[in-house]
Amino acid sequence: MRILVTNDDGINAPGLVALARSLATVGEVVVVAPERQQSAGGHAITLHKPLRLEPVIFAVAEAEAYATNGTPADCIILGCLGLEQRPDLVVAGINAGANLGEEVLYSGTVSAAMEAAINGIPAFAISVIAYQGCIFQPAAAFAARLAQQLQDMRLPQAGFLNVNVPNCPAAEIAGVKVTRLGRRSYLNQLEKRVDPRGRAYYWFSGEAEEADAGEGTDIGAIAAGLISVTPIHFDLTSYGSMDALQGMVAGLAAGSAVKDMLKAQGGVEGGDESEPCHPVTAKAQRRAD
Ligand code: MN
Repeated sequence: MRILVTNDDGINAPGLVALARSLATVGEVVVVAPERQQSAGGHAITLHKPLRLEPVIFAVAEAEAYATNGTPADCIILGCLGLEQRPDLVVAGINAGANLGEEVLYSGTVSAAMEAAINGIPAFAISVIAYQGCIFQPAAAFAARLAQQLQDMRLPQAGFLNVNVPNCPAAEIAGVKVTRLGRRSYLNQLEKRVDPRGRAYYWFSGEAEEADAGEGTDIGAIAAGLISVTPIHFDLTSYGSMDALQGMVAGLAAGSAVKDMLKAQGGVEGGDESEPCHPVTAKAQRRAD
């Protein structure tokens, strides 16, 4: 089994080393990680600058390793296409810090696993619930066992797993639970400071306020000392709103309704309705002329 390992904390992060070392016991490990910290960078990909993929000497001797100037999602694309060998599994982590509730939308770690899932590769993201004094060993051991499981048993639906592990010795972990995402609303705060040249600058801060930490949530499982495993898919469609919304927008697309709206904005009256409104269409038409 070829396992592509990445993270968002950067190639030098201790969690990445612990993960690669543990996964090397169950498969052939290739590490492709950002050259520096990219936490909370989300699912960005790099389109406007050259990407580098530099071989590096890594703490796990049996792992082939590369650092890149790209994002965590770039690491998946580089790991598949740049190295010209598709992995059988992608594992992202071990992140220093929880990825619970809506944090999955900001996390580079989770986005890397999602990028793998988009490309049809089984994947999971794994995080420990501490930024400092991280105990990576239990998470690393769990990652190896989960990787082995996923080799034999495919995920039931397209998607990936988001794993969070309590930051404590293995003996204190109470078990494993499959969970749904909770809600971890942040009370956003912006701290304004002044630099030595008299210009204002800002730091984001703010505390997490657990809005849904109830039964069945990832947040609740962690609070109970359990490893939380959340199956995630990237279909963000709000299915429950579809019928009501259809009723609301039904009349909006009718030709007369659109014309009335444009007329109200002064867009149609006196204007040439035959003029193409899309610049690409206009260009194509000119070329056809
Ligand atoms: Mn991180």
